Parts: sequence; C-alpha cells; structure tokens
Amino acid sequence: MFKRFEFDSLIVGGGGAGLRTAMQLSQAGQNVAVMSKVFPTRSHTVAAQGGIAAALANVSEDKWLWHMFDTIKGSDYLGDQDAIEYMCKHAADAIYELEHIGMPFDRNDDGRIYQRPFGGMTKNFGEASISRTCAVADRTGHAMLHTLYQKNVELKTQFFIEWICLDLIRDIDGDVLGVIALELKTGDVAIFHAKNTVLATGGAGRIFQASTNAYINTGDGLGMAARANIPLEDMEFWQFHPTGILNAGVLITEGVRGEGGYLINSNGERFMEKYAPKAKDLASRDVVSRAIATEVKEGRGIGPNKDGVYLTLSHLGEALINEKLPGIRETSIKFANVDPVIDPIPVVPTVHYMMGGIPTNLNGQVRDSIKNNVITGLYAVGECACVSVHGANRLGSNSLLDLIVFGRAAGLNILEKTSKNKIKKLPDNVGQETLQRLEKLESNQNGETARALGNELRNAMQEHCGVFRFPELLEAGYKKILTIEKRADSLSIQDNSKIFNTARVEALELQNLVHVAVATITAAMTRKESRGAHARADFPNRDDESWLKHSLYNPSERNISYRPVNLKPLTVASFPLKERVY
Ligand SMILES: Cc1cc2nc3c(=O)[nH]c(=O)nc-3n(C[C@H](O)[C@H](O)[C@H](O)COP(=O)(O)OP(=O)(O)OC[C@H]3O[C@@H](n4cnc5c(N)ncnc54)[C@H](O)[C@@H]3O)c2cc1C
Repeated sequence: MFKRFEFDSLIVGGGGAGLRTAMQLSQAGQNVAVMSKVFPTRSHTVAAQGGIAAALANVSEDKWLWHMFDTIKGSDYLGDQDAIEYMCKHAADAIYELEHIGMPFDRNDDGRIYQRPFGGMTKNFGEASISRTCAVADRTGHAMLHTLYQKNVELKTQFFIEWICLDLIRDIDGDVLGVIALELKTGDVAIFHAKNTVLATGGAGRIFQASTNAYINTGDGLGMAARANIPLEDMEFWQFHPTGILNAGVLITEGVRGEGGYLINSNGERFMEKYAPKAKDLASRDVVSRAIATEVKEGRGIGPNKDGVYLTLSHLGEALINEKLPGIRETSIKFANVDPVIDPIPVVPTVHYMMGGIPTNLNGQVRDSIKNNVITGLYAVGECACVSVHGANRLGSNSLLDLIVFGRAAGLNILEKTSKNKIKKLPDNVGQETLQRLEKLESNQNGETARALGNELRNAMQEHCGVFRFPELLEAGYKKILTIEKRADSLSIQDNSKIFNTARVEALELQNLVHVAVATITAAMTRKESRGAHARADFPNRDDESWLKHSLYNPSERNISYRPVNLKPLTVASFPLKERVY
C-alpha cells in the first residue's frame, strides 16, 4: 500500500521558482514540503550564468516601463501585457529582497548592485542598449539558488530529496489534491495529499539533441499536466541560444556579448551589423540565432564542418575576463579546448528555453481552458509555467526574474485563498493509473530501452523542428514523433531493482518528454506565421490578423485551440503592435 503524507502546500521542484514559492509559504507558517528529483541546489537554476533583469538604474537612468516595453517587443507582441507589467514593476523589489536575504551580488564602486547590458534591454523604448542585468560574475543562478535554499532551511521547509513525482491527483470535480511520487532510494510509491500543489519542475530542453539544459530537464510537470488533461500553451516557441559551444552544447552566456564580445564568421566579418544594424550582437536571441543559421547556410561557417561561428572576446583583456566571466573561461577551456583570452570560442545556436508551458494567470493558478476558470488546488511557476511574460521569445535575464516574481505571487495567492480551507477527501481509486503505468514498465520484457528511443526522439526534434521550420520537414517529423510516442508506451527496463533504479527514472522521464514533443510539433505545424522563435520558411512574416493568439494544445483531443493575447496592461497604456526591428 501507499505511504501517505499530508501538507498545506506541496511544491514539486526545488529550483529557483519552487524555493521562492516555498519561502513565501513557510514564512507565513504553513506546513510546506518541497520535492525534488535531485538535491535542490543541483536544479538547473544553478547553471544560470548571465544575470537577472530589473530596472534598478544603478548604472544609468532606467524605468520599469522601458523594461516592460523591451519585454513586450522581445516577445514579438505575444506576451500578455498585464503579466509583463506585473513582472517589470515588481522586479526591483524582488532583487532587493534577494539582496536582503544574502545573495552576494557583484558591486559597482559606489557599493550598489552591478548591472550589465543584455540582448534586447534598452533605454527609452529602444534608443540604445542599457545595463539592466544584475549579476554575480557569470554564476548568478548559483548564488541565487543557494541563497534561497539556505533561507528555506532556516524557515524549516521540509524537503523530499531524490523523489520523482509521477502524477497529479485530480478528483471528480477536477480539483487537484496532491500527487503520487516515487522515492528513488527505496522504489516506494507514496501519496502526497495537499491543499495546494505547485508545479515548479522547470524546462524540457532535453527533447532536443543539442541543448544547454541539464539532463534532468525532461518536462515532467508538463507530462503530468497532459496526463491529467490540462492544456499546454504556446509550445511551438522554443528559444535557441545563439552561443552554445559547437558540438558540446554547453552554454556561453549572453553576458559575454554584454561585456563587449562579438560574433564573427569564417571571413572574419562582424556579421551581426548586417542583421541588426542598431543592436548588433545584442539583438534578441531569436534574431541572433537566425543570423548565425543564415551565415552557416550561406557557406560562411567555421570549424571542420563549417557549421558554427566564432565568438571573440580576447580584446576585453585577461583581467576583465577573470573578474566578470571566470566560469566562461573555464568552460571554454574544458569543452572547446580554447582559452578565450587568446582565441575565439566556436559556437552554434543550441536549444535553451521553453517559452510555453502550463497555462497560468498572474497568481500562478493553472487555467483549465480557454476561459479564465482555474483549477482549484493547482499552481505552476517558473519555466514549466506559461504566464505568459515571454510570449514568442524570452529576453535573456528575464527568466530568473519570472521565477521569483511569480513564485512570490503564487505564494501570496495560496495564503489569501486557501489557508483556512479544509483538505478535501482523496478519491477512492487514487493512484491506480500510476501503479498500472509502473507495472507495465516492470513487466514488459521485449520493449525498447528509454536510452535508444530517447535519442531517436531528440534527433527527430532537432532535425524537424529547429531554428528554421520547413513544412515538409515538420510533417515528416510529426509522423516520426507519433510512432515514437506509440513505441514509448511499451518501453522495457533491463533492471527491475528497487533501489536507485536510474533505468526506471529514464523511462518515466521519456514518457514526459514525448508529451512535450507531441505538443511542440503539433503547435509548430499549426501556426502558419513567423513570430519570435517560431520561424516558418513557408510563412516568413508575422501575421497579427490571424495569429495574434496563444495556442493551447489539448492532450486528449490532440488538437489546438486558442486564447486571445491580453494587450491591456494593469495600469498603464497598452503598447501598440509594431514591426520588430533591432
Ligand atoms: C545553462 C543555462 C543558463 C541560464 N542562464 C540564465 C540567466 O543568466 N538568466 C536567466 O534569467 N535565465 C537563465 N537561464 C534560464 C533559467 O535558468 C531557467 O529558466 C530557470 O532557472 C528555471 O528555474 P525553475 O525553478 O523553473 O526550474 P529548475 O531550476 O530547472 O528546477 C526544476 C526542479 O524541479 C525538480 N523536478 C523536475 N521534475 C521533477 C519530478 N518529476 N519530481 C520531482 N522533482 C522534479 C528538479 O529536481 C528541480 O529541483 C539559463 C538556463 C540554462 C539552461
């Protein structure tokens, strides 16, 4: 039988978003648990390099309204303007709060928090680039995650470490009453019964072969949502970061270009001047990634296969590189065998971030359908959620901000809405479907392994759903993904032991990745325009008349429905639609 635990709030995910939410709730005296597949400080947030955006004006004049404009423009007008206003307006307070709980930000000479320029961040509505991104050298996520973890330890948040959450518990009214999870150490399955469940499971970049994401970023929250028949929003929008190390995928932060580094092709040309005359190398990521892909396609790539470009920063000098970009120097020596103090780093666009996710409102409450009704008891925050502040393309350093602003908002909403509610009774057949799924995996003798099938999935997504999307490739890819989906239903694991069985975990994760891949390629085939990170070769222009809307992939019908973009901010005037040039 199941072990049982009961909490006021259960947070699934110990990254920045989960820990910020937990902090809010523990501070208020709730009985809170955080569950994580890995030790919390190994969550992908730890890998964030470049920084976190907020209009603090520590280097030159800045306004949250300028940040709001940049984010809306960066999103190619698909971001909801109310959510974007909320995020940008609360950004400064969110940063000071991190500072006050001990986050060791870099400092300017006058003692204020150091800020660097980042792509798409500008002053005065696009006039020139601005220093808005607060940083701790090139290890900002590391500092942030450790600070939040320590604060939660102080607040006595309970941790369930090395547990993998498998499914949401939904009752007949559609309310969420907790989750079913498996302890890696013992193989035991348990019920976590909670008034509120917060999904903070991070991204799913492992649906692609070349990815900056950790191996644990397998979209488990999205898989759980899909199995519970909750829609997934804007899944066609995946950000390719322009500078992953060629052939290794490891990230070289945009902070390098923020500090003055730039891209060159095989002729030694600084090619971004052609594609974004004003912002150049600090144009938004989709623009820079397409420029690199075009240079490579037209034969000006570098490397043995001419499939990358160079990122040069030696002109910045060894002292600045050691002070502001020490991790980058180390990473490029280790993964590219290049010391950037002397030579340029070979780079290529690499999958980095999922703009879409589980649909939520400003309070992190998960939306069930096109209308605004929300699912009682369920929240989503961080990269697994789609609020939507990033729309069709996220600006660098806005994700860490999203985690803490909306983690706090979800916490506040939980406290306001439900702290006095009684916990609902669990359904009689709780957990049975999950157990059947596990048993099938155990008993299947002749299926494929998750490793082999997973590689097929990642290769198919890379080939068929990349930086540029071609109609024939998408259609062929869709067919491939559907056959992979069928085969993933009868995986087998070679090892049936209970204790720390990583084969079982990999199979369970692959089932989640498959949900994410099906949603992604379905949405990409359906959206017949180019917007932000979604670049269709057959529909090269943005089409506001037909496509200024969010797409919602419905897992049971396997079709797409739509929700209008909210062009109305909370308090300020709406930013009108404009062509996006940098
Ligand atoms: C290399 C890299 C650099 C980046 N740099 C920046 C940057 O400089 N600035 C910026 O703004 N953004 C950056 N980003 C993006 C940003 O870091 C992420 O979007 C963000 O950290 C995600 O945080 P999260 O809390 O949503 O999820 P994560 O930090 O990924 O945490 C997810 C958590 O969920 C847990 N989990 C997942 N599935 C399960 C399950 N089934 N059961 C139990 N637990 C589960 C994991 O164990 C983990 O604790 C970067 C991303 C990468 C990959």
